[in-house]
Amino acid sequence: MNTAYKRIVVVGGGTAGWMAATSLATALPGSTVELVESEAIGIVGVGEATFPMLRDFHKLNRIAEADFLRATNGTFKLGIEFRDWRAKGHRFFHTFGNFDDLAGPACLWGQYRRVDDPALGALGEQCLPSVMASQGRFVTPPADQAGLFNYAYHFDASLYAGFLRGIALSRGAGRTEGRIVEVRRRADGSVDHLKLEDGRVVAGDLYIDCSGFASLLLGRALEEPFVDFSRWLPVDRAWAVPSKPSGPGLAPHTVATALEAGWSWRIPLSSRVGNGHVFSSRYIDEDRARTQLLDQLDGPALAEPRLLRFTTGHRERFWVHNVVGLGLSSGFLEPLESTSILLIQRGLGKVIELLLPGARPAAAVVASYNRGMARVFERIRDFIILHYCLTERRDSALWRDMASMELPETLDFKLHAWRQTGSLNMYGEEGFEATSWLAIHAGMGNWPLRADPVLAEVPRAEALQALHQRRDHFAAVVAGMPTHEAFLRHVLGR
Ligand SMILES: Cc1cc2nc3c(=O)[nH]c(=O)nc-3n(C[C@H](O)[C@H](O)[C@H](O)COP(=O)(O)OP(=O)(O)OC[C@H]3O[C@@H](n4cnc5c(N)ncnc54)[C@H](O)[C@@H]3O)c2cc1C
Repeated sequence: MNTAYKRIVVVGGGTAGWMAATSLATALPGSTVELVESEAIGIVGVGEATFPMLRDFHKLNRIAEADFLRATNGTFKLGIEFRDWRAKGHRFFHTFGNFDDLAGPACLWGQYRRVDDPALGALGEQCLPSVMASQGRFVTPPADQAGLFNYAYHFDASLYAGFLRGIALSRGAGRTEGRIVEVRRRADGSVDHLKLEDGRVVAGDLYIDCSGFASLLLGRALEEPFVDFSRWLPVDRAWAVPSKPSGPGLAPHTVATALEAGWSWRIPLSSRVGNGHVFSSRYIDEDRARTQLLDQLDGPALAEPRLLRFTTGHRERFWVHNVVGLGLSSGFLEPLESTSILLIQRGLGKVIELLLPGARPAAAVVASYNRGMARVFERIRDFIILHYCLTERRDSALWRDMASMELPETLDFKLHAWRQTGSLNMYGEEGFEATSWLAIHAGMGNWPLRADPVLAEVPRAEALQALHQRRDHFAAVVAGMPTHEAFLRHVLGR
């Protein structure tokens, strides 16, 4: 296939770099794809929970699920269990399932609220994957009902890039090992070539900057300004540590527990558990945050905790001259909803779509790409803030500040629309669907002020019976499912 960029250089060999190289080598066989990475610098090596869209990436790139799970010690993920976010001791699930109709007289959450029967339990009991997650059970949906529920994966981030590297190289991508010490630009501002420490030169027509937080091309060389989101999302550090699995079975979900000045993650892999404490240095010092993480572990730590520092936000533009930033080099949203790899995919998918016609995209197209990516970051930012701003916790300075902060206008409007009219207002370029917003509103106990009169078209007794039947049906179906562990063994043929 012909393409306007004959030689594409990918800078960096982390998850972003090898995802880009794999996709480019697969989708644009007419281009030469060369990836430059430095083993001495290494990769960030965290980022172990994903979003269902990763399955599309694997499908498009002809990557078999079992091969991927085997190579990365992967497990299945139905969503996230949030602990202590609304109040200490409170829990809820945000899974990738649906809650059926979101509008009209059959609106599930509306009828649930209207019948107000404590015997129904949480709204999550009306959602199949939430019930599966709470019971530690998992099966993939039957082929003829692929839309029944959605799922993603957990995987070992240090293994994923290596797995993709093998695939990209087998499809014709090249790899140069070496540290880039200089980025040479042309008079028009575009990048001409990269100079390596040993004097070698790597040149291309298009550069995909996947150099991680260093942001070698987009940030350092092109000096693209950074849009800082930390006034809304103040977490800026994370301690990460693996631990030995212990306790009951393999959970098919991530656990995110709210702590004094941030939150912790627990990600079950088939070989170990990934743990981390994401916190704000404005509210807690690094040593205390480290202790809080180690106190939380279910099993013994398998390594010394590692500290990562970051700022939440993104580069103003993502595609500048002949440089496109993907992954951490272009921006980072704190990992509460596992959206970084999703953002890589959104950018990468669009870039390939723009390169496929074989002509260089016009300036207006690039500008539209940049606007679109900035919007996706903003939409996901708002979704993450929602988890904080609805808290009822007032037991520490972080939670008091999060509960009273001034919100971005875009989120303020959504919250207002929901509270006043019960409508889940969605904009363009959303990262999460209405059903996800509902899961967080419901989980955090944030309900509309008035019931929609249309709900009364269904007699209360009928609505109540339907909800009980649905809940009992899901409970029975899930009781017959294999455990996550058993299903994983079956998929891996072990
Ligand atoms: C605490 C934390 C938790 C996270 N959790 C999640 C999660 O659960 N889910 C999720 O989707 N994402 C998560 N992420 C984000 C995720 O880790 C990244 O999006 C993902 O790993 C991609 O990283 P990257 O490839 O952009 O950067 P990196 O992995 O850092 O790769 C950068 C590459 O650039 C190379 N490089 C840099 N400088 C040079 C140089 N001078 N010369 C040559 N090569 C160079 C490096 O060697 C490396 O190969 C998390 C991030 C953090 C910080």
